[in-house]
Amino acid sequence: MQKQGILLILSGPSGSGKGTVVERLCQNEDFALSISATTRSPREYEKHGVHYFFHTRDEFEKMREQQELLEWAEFCGNYYGTPKKYVVEQLAEGRNVILEIEVQGALQIKELYPEGVLVFLIPPNLEELGKRLTNRGTEDKETINRRIQRALEELELAEEYDYVVINDTVEQAAEDILAIVRAEKLKSYRNKDMKKTFKGEM
Ligand code: 5GP
Repeated sequence: MQKQGILLILSGPSGSGKGTVVERLCQNEDFALSISATTRSPREYEKHGVHYFFHTRDEFEKMREQQELLEWAEFCGNYYGTPKKYVVEQLAEGRNVILEIEVQGALQIKELYPEGVLVFLIPPNLEELGKRLTNRGTEDKETINRRIQRALEELELAEEYDYVVINDTVEQAAEDILAIVRAEKLKSYRNKDMKKTFKGEM
């Protein structure tokens, strides 16, 4: 029987480098990234079905009503949500599924799916966060300030997470997350069939 993959929920302030760390993790074929639905407008380089599924508010609300989302949240005036079907399928195939989502959604998942592993990624300090957001050049000054404010609020919730990883370098952060996944896979409650396997009964 195929063993379920780990549901890895990765949050962190906008500008914490989640995207780059996730890209690194997904170079490993045991990992799959869930593509979220959002009502935010696409950034210039973003493509529907690659970075997000871009929807109108009406379409998003319909998905919510039809229970197609595992979780959803409003972030800085836009809706974001995780389509359920892909996550369930990938986990069943034994792949570790990454949800790159903000804190309200992450805490909903923790309630709904306690086996999920919550990782909070933070940049080394506030100054570095400001720099990363400005250098990205995708948001105006007002949006950057709102995102910094939001980052400070989110930081308060980091203690609700199972792990905190500091993103000083992408390599180290990705390595820390791989170590977390390896350890989680060895947890006894995830290995209940161990005795049968040992005796050759499975
Ligand atoms: P951005 O607009 O920068 O792409 O994303 C804004 C925030 O929304 C980020 O913190 C991102 O992790 C979060 N986010 C992206 N997709 C989802 C989702 O499906 N659900 C929730 N709750 N948050 C999401």
